[in-house]
Amino acid sequence: MTTLTNLTQERRLVTAIPGPKSTEALKRRTEATSGGLGMAIPVVIERASDAILLDIDGNQIIDLGSGIGVTNVGNAAQRVVDRVIEQVQAFTHTCFTVAPYMNYIEVCEKLNAMTPGSHKKKSLLVNSGAEAVENAVKIARHYTKRPAIVVFEHSYHGRTNLTMALTAKNMPYKEGFGPFAPEIYRVPMPYSFHWVGDQATITEDAIDMVTHKIDKEIGAHNVAAILIEPIQGEGGFIVPPKGFLPALAKYSKDNGIVFIADEVQTGFARTGHMFAVEEEGVVPDMVVTAKGIAGGLPLAAVTGRAEVMDSVHASGLGGTYGGNPIACAAALGAMETIEEENLVARAKHIGEILGSSLRELAKKYPVIGEVRGRGAMQAIELVEPGTKNPNTAAMGVVVKYCQSQGVLVLTAGTYSNVVRFLPPLVITDELLKDALSVLDDAFASL
Ligand SMILES: *Cc1c(COP(=O)(O)O)cnc(C)c1O
Repeated sequence: MTTLTNLTQERRLVTAIPGPKSTEALKRRTEATSGGLGMAIPVVIERASDAILLDIDGNQIIDLGSGIGVTNVGNAAQRVVDRVIEQVQAFTHTCFTVAPYMNYIEVCEKLNAMTPGSHKKKSLLVNSGAEAVENAVKIARHYTKRPAIVVFEHSYHGRTNLTMALTAKNMPYKEGFGPFAPEIYRVPMPYSFHWVGDQATITEDAIDMVTHKIDKEIGAHNVAAILIEPIQGEGGFIVPPKGFLPALAKYSKDNGIVFIADEVQTGFARTGHMFAVEEEGVVPDMVVTAKGIAGGLPLAAVTGRAEVMDSVHASGLGGTYGGNPIACAAALGAMETIEEENLVARAKHIGEILGSSLRELAKKYPVIGEVRGRGAMQAIELVEPGTKNPNTAAMGVVVKYCQSQGVLVLTAGTYSNVVRFLPPLVITDELLKDALSVLDDAFASL
């Protein structure tokens, strides 16, 4: 086995993007893989470390996406790699519900301790964010013996049948994939940039609308769960106005509704808190996690009040691969990295650099309608200057320009006009500033 040295944390282009090798390889991709799959950047990756992706042509690309908020601890983080190697040599699988093993239990202990609230908690491990959301809904329905699930405009919860129904946006997630699961009710999401009034007014209006809809159209006593992303991810990094989440949590409590925070994208230090709900001291009944949990290995979890999680009969929950030992080893490595590298503080620091640079750009380029987000989860919404009309074309040009210069950024938004930034939390200040100077050039090129 050859020893791989870490990649230098610098941007380096040796060919155009895509280079000749990637171009050839992508022909095979087109031939072999489903046309239903998308692609954010047209290069094929050979290696990666921390915030740098190396493609097969030798280009070093700055990663401002973290594989959609997954490699928070950096790509191929040392503690993750070491623990994975150790585990894969020990054993690869038993199925936790056939013959249990320690690192599944340890991951659950850690989740129970690190998620908000001092109440007794228990956890369940599964493979993906969507599977975790499905399980949270299953458990909430079982516990409350109620059918209805309340979700929000602009939400994203996954691509399985139930989670498609929970997700708001039709194209590309739902188009032609119905019929969808019943008993899902969508309520307004306060989207400050497009709503009228100050934050307090918007919060009040939104709570009025949401509770009116639940009380009059569904009946609060029929609602098993209110499910919300504390900052919406795919929807465009929509940050609810202050007071909205606490009011929802209180309404849930008053009505015997399970309040579920989908922290799949916001979790694990991303927003400058371990979990985004901590910003306002909200304590959910259940927290759903995935993405940043295991440094790149597939793992997801539902963590909730013990009495809720234990309400399900034995063998009512499970799955062949859920909480695979290698993924659990990776999660322990990732959690240790977050703690020892103090990545919560690091996310705040990234947020300061990112936020101030993006606000500078917004002053220079009127195509940037709003800068929003928290910590290392920030986005810009692009508009036709002087209006709030979506500017999808500008988004396309900016993203392509960044790619051509070796900077990977992701898009989002119900109106497909948001550029989002989810850098690994270990990105160096120099690398981040280099990427932001490329972004400046991208807007100058418009
Ligand atoms: C990505 C995401 C999901 C789905 O996770 P998968 O692992 O892709 O199934 C669910 N909720 C949110 C908020 C997400 O960002």
